[in-house]
Amino acid sequence: MTLPSAAELRAALEPHRHAILELARDLVAIPSENPPGKHYPECVQRIRAELSGRGLPCETIADLNLCSSWGEGRPTVYFHGHYDVVPAQSRAQFQPRVEQGRLHGRGSADMKAGLAGMLYAIVILKELAVPLRGRLCLCVVADEETGGRGGSRSLDEAGRLGQDGIAMLTMEPTGGTIWNANRGALTLEVTVRGRTAHVGLQHEGVNAFDRDDRGCPRLPGAEAHGGIAQDALPHQPPGGGPLDPHAGRQG
Ligand SMILES: [Zn+2]
Repeated sequence: MTLPSAAELRAALEPHRHAILELARDLVAIPSENPPGKHYPECVQRIRAELSGRGLPCETIADLNLCSSWGEGRPTVYFHGHYDVVPAQSRAQFQPRVEQGRLHGRGSADMKAGLAGMLYAIVILKELAVPLRGRLCLCVVADEETGGRGGSRSLDEAGRLGQDGIAMLTMEPTGGTIWNANRGALTLEVTVRGRTAHVGLQHEGVNAFDRDDRGCPRLPGAEAHGGIAQDALPHQPPGGGPLDPHAGRQG
């Protein structure tokens, strides 16, 4: 199995530079603000047109989400991203502009340029006929900014979220650093019982807060890092980053 070098991949990408920028610009110009979730169908239409134009399959799931795949077999590496953006401060933010080689406009970083990049990553792998031991699947979703109800949750309900997945890449922006991340949520409801007692006879009581070592289940690896389960991959980018998992609420 011969894989292209990084230089060969860059060379293959070069002829598409203009198309990638045009796609990103067109998406930035669509004011897909969420909340409330405006202009979603236009984003879907624009991305579908690009996929079709490049000879890639395109499946619409729950009206607002697109999946396109390349390769054969079950093991799947996902490219996953969203096209909604947080509300803009002014309409001018939906007029994309390029300054000093950088695209500006609402959603250009988060994450419409990323969508264009992921789409064209698949395009050049297809063009170069890079042999894959499985599939690449691009999932483009709505509603990320408000929790994913019409987006990733719809994929999940359709049984399509992460199906046969062995890895996932997302272009969610940070400081430009690429790193491993695994963000999730773990919600526990724990009841810890104590025994009330008069303040003057507190030795007869049992303080529920003092009992959490007996009442709470131990989570593997969770205690050392405020709820972050550790694995073999580095999760924190050099210099830190915004993707800090948060422990839940105590009540
Ligand atoms: Zn985002």
